[in-house]
Amino acid sequence: MNFQQAKIEAERCLQCFDAPCTAACPTHIDVPKFISMIRTNNIIGAAEVVKTSNALANTCGKICPEEVFCQSVCTRGKQDSPIQIREMHLFATQHERERGFSATREFPKSNERIAVVGAGPAGLGCAFELAKLGYHVDVYDSRKPGGVPRNSIPSFRLAARELEADTRFLGRFFRLKKQSVDSDGLERIRKSHEATFLAVGLGRDRTLGLSGEKLKGVVPVLKFLERVKAGPSGMKVGKKVVVVGGGNVSLDAAATAKRLGAESVVVIYRRSEKEMRVWKGELDEARKQGVEIRFLTNPVSIMGKDKVAGVRCRRTRLSRQKDRSGRPLPVEIKGSDFVIEADLVVVAVGQTIDARWLDGFDRKEGGYIRVGEDFQTSVPGVFAGGDMIAGEGTIVQSVAHGKHAARAIHEFLSAK
Ligand SMILES: Cc1cc2nc3c(=O)[nH]c(=O)nc-3n(C[C@H](O)[C@H](O)[C@H](O)COP(=O)(O)OP(=O)(O)OC[C@H]3O[C@@H](n4cnc5c(N)ncnc54)[C@H](O)[C@@H]3O)c2cc1C
Ligand code: SF4
Repeated sequence: MNFQQAKIEAERCLQCFDAPCTAACPTHIDVPKFISMIRTNNIIGAAEVVKTSNALANTCGKICPEEVFCQSVCTRGKQDSPIQIREMHLFATQHERERGFSATREFPKSNERIAVVGAGPAGLGCAFELAKLGYHVDVYDSRKPGGVPRNSIPSFRLAARELEADTRFLGRFFRLKKQSVDSDGLERIRKSHEATFLAVGLGRDRTLGLSGEKLKGVVPVLKFLERVKAGPSGMKVGKKVVVVGGGNVSLDAAATAKRLGAESVVVIYRRSEKEMRVWKGELDEARKQGVEIRFLTNPVSIMGKDKVAGVRCRRTRLSRQKDRSGRPLPVEIKGSDFVIEADLVVVAVGQTIDARWLDGFDRKEGGYIRVGEDFQTSVPGVFAGGDMIAGEGTIVQSVAHGKHAARAIHEFLSAK
């Protein structure tokens, strides 16, 4: 979106007094305010409004699924089409990036020190808010800040420079400690900090539990995406690729494999298109790349001797019974087996927490960490947020967890 287009779009905004868009954005960006600033040519001011609410403003400007948040409730959508809110805040933050960051205000500093474990969206959202509240913040992560958006989201959707526009800006608000935390480390951190926020995400891929899964050429999806993102020598993509799983992450893997030159890429999903929980942009991109999606198909085993040669599949039909997600249960159809040839199989059936050192924390269904309304875990003074408490979510939801948890930490310490 260029200046002219942003101005025209800003003129369309109805400036609703109740701003349903702001309420629907998990980080509650003041949408009418930043749009009215674009109207009056105050683009840096608009960027400031967005960045003050959302620590990963530029990243969200690129890949926030706006159709499920702010834009889904835009009043203008009832007249003709919703305001392009995400595109407009991307325009503002990129305009600011090109002109150098706007001056950073000095926040008042208290003597209290808070630890944040994990520098993904939730950790960064929390660190930024804590800094605004005046705390000294130490962020622990063995990798560069950014979490999944840095390590796994394909570069064709999120280029490094877009994420770094955010992480470079945020870097001035905390001290980065390049280390991975374990149970002993957590104990040390708790002793040297007033409170701790955990945000380690979901680092372990779930497995299918099928025979042949250990064959060469069968790769878990996070590993696949991370290796590809790490550079050209990171991952060789086969000619015939099968991706197992029907979520956004599987579509990312499939589109990536096609872009890297695979001749055929087939996604297999056990339900129909209607039950797929994917964002439209992801599905469109995969289809544009020539990815084939086989619905109502279940993998039965992975075939091959030393190396993968194919996936044995079985057709399914949907029963009237629903599972916990509210979607109809797929039932396998006897005698309907068939084989899809493959020299690379990517397993994308979800992620779980990768941290034995959190065994002492109360968990909820799915193994995620249980927190109260104030984001506090079962261990006093230790708070948590992001995917590790809610399961696979979005960047903006994780940033919002971090932000709300920071305020809860502030209340917790103020009440002491
Ligand atoms: C392939 C893929 C594509 C996605 N696409 C989108 C998208 O387009 N839009 C969107 O909104 N969302 C998308 N998501 C979801 C989004 O990326 C996640 O919801 C979000 O990253 C979760 O943030 P988090 O901070 O909870 O965890 P993470 O992003 O996983 O960050 C966790 C951080 O903790 C660190 N860590 C782990 N263990 C330790 C330890 N022991 N000590 C110290 N640090 C540790 C990790 O190195 C990492 O930096 C996608 C997810 C995936 C997997
Ligand atoms: S961060 Fe996402 S939900 Fe919030 S205003 Fe931007 S596009 Fe909308």
